[in-house]
Amino acid sequence: MAMDKVPNQWGTGRFHLLKTRRNIRILNASTIDSHRIEKLRLYLRSFFTLPVKISSPFARPNPKYLRDEKTGQKFHLNTHDESVEYESLLKVALQYIQKRDYTVLMIVDYPLVEQNGDRFDPILGRALNQRTCVAQVQYRDLDFFATCAHEIMHNIGVDHTTNAKCLMNPCGSDIPLLADHNLKKLQHFLGFGNDKKFKRSRYADLCRMWWKIFDRSDVVALRAFREIELRMS
Ligand SMILES: [Zn+2]
Repeated sequence: MAMDKVPNQWGTGRFHLLKTRRNIRILNASTIDSHRIEKLRLYLRSFFTLPVKISSPFARPNPKYLRDEKTGQKFHLNTHDESVEYESLLKVALQYIQKRDYTVLMIVDYPLVEQNGDRFDPILGRALNQRTCVAQVQYRDLDFFATCAHEIMHNIGVDHTTNAKCLMNPCGSDIPLLADHNLKKLQHFLGFGNDKKFKRSRYADLCRMWWKIFDRSDVVALRAFREIELRMS
């Protein structure tokens, strides 16, 4: 069996994208409405050019525990004040990876923390072991969706950048897009090599979807849209 066909279950190396394993799964552990989740699905689909599925298995999610509505299974979460320690969430996310999923993005609508020794540091999202990541719902779609894409990019194997026009900038970016060098990494990951058509058709798709996802009164969304148009030409 070729090495690149072997799914790595131990987290020591990179998961490859396969024809049979290319879904991004949104694991909804939040209480946000289905309309907003659908917008997130559209955004991630155009951003990654991969199929995006949605699972909402939990009954009345809360910061103490998650309970699977169908099986009754209850997962206790590590809570610190009103926040949840993210690793306890990702342990749950691992249980919901399906055979055809490349990665699972869990979304929650309470604050997240990362434990560093005795300290609990607030975070907006985190990716772990290449198959799971988590993001906290934020007030603005644009910020929230960009955090989701940022974490999935980590799952793909892309690190932070200092480029202010890239959502892989850990301090936040001016626009929720990828700088060229990271877009190339995504293109390579997706198996498009140096195909020049990839970039153009992805931006065209983002353009088509943009105003189905974002509000025209959002100035950052408008700025990003103009940037996409520019990059297409
Ligand atoms: Zn990051």
